[in-house]
Amino acid sequence: MKITLDEAAKIIGDAQTIILTSHIRPDGDSIGSTLGLMHFLRAQGKDARVLIDDEIPRIFSVLPGIDQIARPVEGQRCTADLLIVCDVELKRTGAVVSSVDAVRVLNIDHHVTNDEAAEYLYLNPDYAATCEIVHDLIRVMGGAFSLETATCLYTGMATDTGFFRFSNTTPHTMRAAADFLEVGVQQSKIAIAMEMKSYDEVMAQANAIRNVEMFCGGRVAAVFIDEMRAKEVTTTEGLLDALRVIEGTQIVFFMKWLAPDTYRVSMRSKGANVSRIAQRFDGGGHIRAAGCTILAPFDAAKQAILDAIGEELNC
Ligand code: 5GP
Ligand code: MN
Repeated sequence: MKITLDEAAKIIGDAQTIILTSHIRPDGDSIGSTLGLMHFLRAQGKDARVLIDDEIPRIFSVLPGIDQIARPVEGQRCTADLLIVCDVELKRTGAVVSSVDAVRVLNIDHHVTNDEAAEYLYLNPDYAATCEIVHDLIRVMGGAFSLETATCLYTGMATDTGFFRFSNTTPHTMRAAADFLEVGVQQSKIAIAMEMKSYDEVMAQANAIRNVEMFCGGRVAAVFIDEMRAKEVTTTEGLLDALRVIEGTQIVFFMKWLAPDTYRVSMRSKGANVSRIAQRFDGGGHIRAAGCTILAPFDAAKQAILDAIGEELNC
């Protein structure tokens, strides 16, 4: 059921024990929104903690409280007054939803593709990041931004907007970011941390880019990472930023081996609706940034995604 921000604030206010979670393969917005809200709720005297069912990429070690994020333990159940699922629909949280017994479940998201399966959903697809929603939520709850909260929320807004360059960046995004800078967020430290890669990661990514393939008369650029190369390309952070600068591209994407006959696709566009393409494969996202998982052998998966993109672009 869709609810208003005031109703979401009331549900949170009524709860004492709160578990926060987000999607697997966590990014800046998923970690920033859960951790930022956790810090705020703790300052309100609540028992709040973050559970994420995946490894936390080490670039996020600059975020205060990052070491307090726990993974659900198999066979171990948790209870809470409230489970808050941020930046994703319930089904993409790994084992968290099934291992938490919560009186209520609140979903806070900015993805237009959200399946609306949650008991309570506050959805704002006009916002660039879930962290931007959490900014407003804290304001509605009458709270102030501590440096810890602001650092986490700033990071999520920065990563979901390509450091305030993508078209999802609005005046509200910039005002919220300004609120965070005002309490002392060190934005250049965050920018440096988010871009950091090991030497090996840079080299592996350079090799991946060298194997870029062009389609649709240059309107599509793609990198395909098979099982063998997936072992070297341990991070895909920044890979699509390198492809999108290629002149004439409308859609850029990578397809990376995840498990046998399982490939992860991540797409970016300059206007074409890639979330519609992702939804064909049961994925989702935003018009200009979306992803999905394709269950097929390498060649079939490659053909399937290229066909779907070709239909979207009429090429
Ligand atoms: P990325 O390409 O960075 O993994 O994701 C781009 C956007 O699409 C993000 O907002 C992300 O949450 C969303 N997204 C990526 N993969 C999936 C997926 O498998 N399902 C859904 N619903 N959304 C996805
Ligand atoms: Mn997000």
